[in-house]
Amino acid sequence: MTSPNAKTGGNKEHPEAATPAAPSNFLRHVIEHDIAEGTYATRRWGGSPGDGPHHQAGMPDPARIRTRFPPEPNGYLHIGHAKSIWLNFELAKEYGGVCHLRFDDTNPEKEEQEYVDAIREAIAWMGYETLLADDPVHRGTMREHEYFASNYFDFMYRAAEYLVTAGHAYVDEQTPEEMRANRGDFGKPGIDSPYRSRTPEENLARLRQMKNGELPDGAAVLRAKIDMASPNINLRDPTLYRIRRATHHNTGDRWCIYPMYTFAHPIEDALEQITHSICTLEFEDQRPFYDWLMDRLCEGGLLVAPPPHQYEFARLNVTHVITSKRKLRQLVEEGHVDGWDDPRMPTLAGLRRRGYTPEALKLFCERSGTTKTGGAWTEYAALEAALRDTLDPVAPRAMAVLDPVKLVITNWGELMGGDDVLDDCTAPVHPHHPEMGERHFKIGREVWIERTDYEDVPPKGFNRLFPAYTNASGQAIAASKVRLKYGHIVECVGATRDSDGKLVEVQAKLVPDTKSGTPGADAVKVKGNITWVAVADAVPAEVRLYERLFAAAQPGSGELLEELNSKSLETCAAYVEPSSTYCGTGLQFERHGYFAVDKKAADACGRCVFNRTAGMRDGWAK
Ligand code: ATP
Ligand code: MG
Repeated sequence: MTSPNAKTGGNKEHPEAATPAAPSNFLRHVIEHDIAEGTYATRRWGGSPGDGPHHQAGMPDPARIRTRFPPEPNGYLHIGHAKSIWLNFELAKEYGGVCHLRFDDTNPEKEEQEYVDAIREAIAWMGYETLLADDPVHRGTMREHEYFASNYFDFMYRAAEYLVTAGHAYVDEQTPEEMRANRGDFGKPGIDSPYRSRTPEENLARLRQMKNGELPDGAAVLRAKIDMASPNINLRDPTLYRIRRATHHNTGDRWCIYPMYTFAHPIEDALEQITHSICTLEFEDQRPFYDWLMDRLCEGGLLVAPPPHQYEFARLNVTHVITSKRKLRQLVEEGHVDGWDDPRMPTLAGLRRRGYTPEALKLFCERSGTTKTGGAWTEYAALEAALRDTLDPVAPRAMAVLDPVKLVITNWGELMGGDDVLDDCTAPVHPHHPEMGERHFKIGREVWIERTDYEDVPPKGFNRLFPAYTNASGQAIAASKVRLKYGHIVECVGATRDSDGKLVEVQAKLVPDTKSGTPGADAVKVKGNITWVAVADAVPAEVRLYERLFAAAQPGSGELLEELNSKSLETCAAYVEPSSTYCGTGLQFERHGYFAVDKKAADACGRCVFNRTAGMRDGWAK
């Protein structure tokens, strides 16, 4: 993010001054207000040392903004998460605060180390791993802000006991079916559980039995005692703890009761001294419970006000993209894609392999705006536009022929002193940045050109290779002359086709003294300029062209597999310019778009593999 003023268009002295239209981000106003008011300047926390990472009783926290990105390690991060990562880390950075990476690992069943590692890697790749910050408790100590919610299980349990003792929670032993039936629905208030009137002493004894493994799984839950008639169903005595004998990746078998997300999450925020807890709109109805819980724990002295506050923004939806870990997992597990990092996947691992850069994703996130109204879809084309806009100024250029056919320069030997003679060509690495240097490659008697650059009889407006012919009105039309970009001009002679009519070779004559960069280069004018690579130094490569993984513009509502695009991958046996093999990520094959070396695929197949990240322009529209 750049300066807040530039983004909010808030030039207060000169409201009419032309500031570029900036994507909206209402969270900036919230944070600026809190900084101006000193909302968190005098914050002090209760509790005991050791409960949370910064949780030291009575320690003041400076007026520092703290945000967090709290993924549940049950899948790979996707483009929707990128929005949340970008938002939380950039807001913290912009306002001199800190953003925590917190693994929300309170559910023992679905979480795996593989996902923890993949999430770490994705955050680091986004450029946020080195965000070391001054520890608020141990001044002068820089630390990485990475946390695990499961480290707070002790405090969470203590908070649960407190709620029971204070009469704010009870152990319910209705069956799940009874609980569901008694919850009511939107038009119908719920019915109090028969266990709701137990005394705090009874509840405490029962909660301890739950914790000590004296009750079987599912036999009882701990519920908040709020209001079974509340119009907000989330306040109808939500469940806080359940019994589940499952081994947790961090705490092993120490616990047989686990906190529910809605109970755990506000506590995680509070213990980490988060100021602005930013989440997506689905959680808006949970905010009253978030506040209820924070207020009760502050009353009880377990936390000291002001507690963190939750803010909701509209989730990112991208056309032709699924942003649900569950559905993405289905694609992986059923083999519809080649793993979580398949370059067609909207996971950060897939986008990375496809050739997306962190800069492109951040620009895309910023441009997509941060608002409070949901339901909007951002066009996939905007993602590609962000890639082009960030790569165009920096990407090295190279030539590649994706659908190769051989062009033979019939008079090469005669003019150049032998059929095997090669000539040197140079081209800028970047057309606008001479400081990026030059590329060097050969030209010889045989070069690879695109099959589509030749026609026996040219359609209207075709300026590439065609031989002399007679048109429908009996007029003789001369053969075309085109420049082999950065090389010489050739004049088309003819072509050879096989018995099926398939083009197998094109022939042309070199026009003498026309090489690019020589004094005669401009003496002959041509309308066409084609890309090519010399047979002598071209590198064979597999090029993978991708289309949208989902044909449906707004996938996710229908049958998932029916929404898939069956033509999302096309593979070409291409020839590429030698320099491209050491460019790595983010190069532009002239005419064809932006590409990245796929090292993983190359290691697997032993060939050079390039993924097309995005075309030169939006090709999906047609
Ligand atoms: P999924 O439904 O894919 O599992 P989730 O929200 O359950 O997503 P979490 O791991 O809980 O996944 O998400 C971590 C954070 O990322 C949350 O704060 C969540 O609000 C945010 N997030 C998830 N999807 C999006 C999205 N499409 N746009 C913006 N933020 C998102
Ligand atoms: Mg979630």
